[in-house]
Amino acid sequence: MVNKEIADIFHAIADILEIQGENAFRVRAYRRASQLLENTPENAAELLVAGKHLPGIGHDLAQKILEFSRTGSLGDYEKLKHAVPAGLLDIVRIPGVGPKRTKLFYDKLGIADIAALEQAAHNHRLRALAGIKDKTEEHILEGIALIRQGSGRILLAEADEIAAEIRQELSLVPGVRESAVAGSVRRRRETVHDIDILVAAARPPAVIDALPRLRACAEIIAQGPTKISLRTHRGFPVDIRVVVPECFGAALVYFTGSPAHNVRLRELAKRRGLKINEYGVFAEGREQPLAAASEEAVYQAVDLPWIAPELREDQGEMEQAAAGNLPRLITAADIRADTHVHSQWSDGRQSIRAMAQALQARGCEYMVIADHSQSLGIARGLKPDDLRRQMDEIRQLNKQLKNFRILCGAEVDITAGGNLDFEDTVLRELDVVLAAVHSGFRQPQEQLTQRIVHALEHPYVDILVHPTGRLLGERAGYALDFERILSAARRTHTALEINASPKRLDLDGAHCRLAKQAGVKLVIGTDSHDTAQCAHMELGVGIARRGGLEAADVLNCLPCEQFLQKLRT
Ligand SMILES: [Zn+2]
Ligand SMILES: [Zn+2]
Repeated sequence: MVNKEIADIFHAIADILEIQGENAFRVRAYRRASQLLENTPENAAELLVAGKHLPGIGHDLAQKILEFSRTGSLGDYEKLKHAVPAGLLDIVRIPGVGPKRTKLFYDKLGIADIAALEQAAHNHRLRALAGIKDKTEEHILEGIALIRQGSGRILLAEADEIAAEIRQELSLVPGVRESAVAGSVRRRRETVHDIDILVAAARPPAVIDALPRLRACAEIIAQGPTKISLRTHRGFPVDIRVVVPECFGAALVYFTGSPAHNVRLRELAKRRGLKINEYGVFAEGREQPLAAASEEAVYQAVDLPWIAPELREDQGEMEQAAAGNLPRLITAADIRADTHVHSQWSDGRQSIRAMAQALQARGCEYMVIADHSQSLGIARGLKPDDLRRQMDEIRQLNKQLKNFRILCGAEVDITAGGNLDFEDTVLRELDVVLAAVHSGFRQPQEQLTQRIVHALEHPYVDILVHPTGRLLGERAGYALDFERILSAARRTHTALEINASPKRLDLDGAHCRLAKQAGVKLVIGTDSHDTAQCAHMELGVGIARRGGLEAADVLNCLPCEQFLQKLRT
């Protein structure tokens, strides 16, 4: 997490410098360094201490990284923070604003916080400024709404990282028997408000006393004999509860939730004359619980099989469990391929070979290379000739690789008019055609839906990727008539993607449920632009599980030949 913390600080420094109208070169250096740190999986400070040179990080920035890792703060940043009104740093984060406009609004209209900006946009005072149109005001208001909705929400991938780091440290605290993640992180919600961790220890208060010293802990919010609430350096709230091992299972059910699921459990218990709480399942007037140590025992006490956390949302899982009809949820081990992988040919950071090796090491049998198509200049989209040369390279690699196959694919842009960004003569040569919307997000629902339906009807399109286009915390999904997309997908035998990239997780669980009901198949692709991102597959599997999907619903659980066959029908 240290890298991410420094990346945040560098990002904020760049914003402040830009608002101050500082030298563009300095601003860019901070932005580049921030990006680089975000994408470096190894601890950057440790690399520097070991004498490694990090490309794009000069001597000055390297010293700052070391200072932060030593002291937990950065002197220059603390000073800079007070150089501009604090509200400007909130404004700069609104989607569609950025540093240049933040400076413009402040310089010309004296706008120094989000409330003032909202007022000004409502009263149409912004459009008097150079470069601000009526539409811009609308977008800014939407951006403010998005920020309010998403404020305080944490991406699941980040929550996982924090939870793993804390659990690792907890395992070293004397007296700790075991720990588990609970709450919405365990239910694999795409974003969460806080992180819940449950610890088993014979003497809870002794463990609680050790927790303020956790590396992740920046501040204690509240502390009791069995619970501590803390805030991490990035400002995320974490609740840690310590219970005796004898009631770990009951506590885990209780703190995993969801609240709606727990209400149903309590009703079931009540009907059997039992009481269920975080300490166990109790018969009337008895102090010893009937069940408490394991989750299985707790569910069994109310005559249910164990229910996977991802399903615990009161979305029909109680009825399915009672009838013995719970789905056999897909697991990460069922996945045989990654169907959405980028390489250096477009905007990926690594070679096709490196991506293949990384995926094979993770147990995959094949992958689909899906670099961008020609009109996506911003992502260095491939011209048809590039694509053909890439296919040559893939053929060569396939001769060399053992027990792994690379499929030739492309992430082909769906143009504003609903056409594909390559001629049929090009598409015909590909093993897999992925279609995607990357522009014109603001078209009206009818037009966007029609545009996608038209692409699905194209005979060569196999998979619609990131179908709703949402970016968590930045952009809501585009306006779509999802029913129509589903019926077109079924009619044309086109699969829909669960994009496992942490900011997308698109489709979500509810969409997956609808797709399954409509008889539409899914694939899970990581959209990896780097070998480290291949690990995101697990996030996609979590979404599929929330949607009640089984291996049979997900095409990349099939061996390669069968996968291709399915796509061709
Ligand atoms: Zn894309
Ligand atoms: Zn992609």
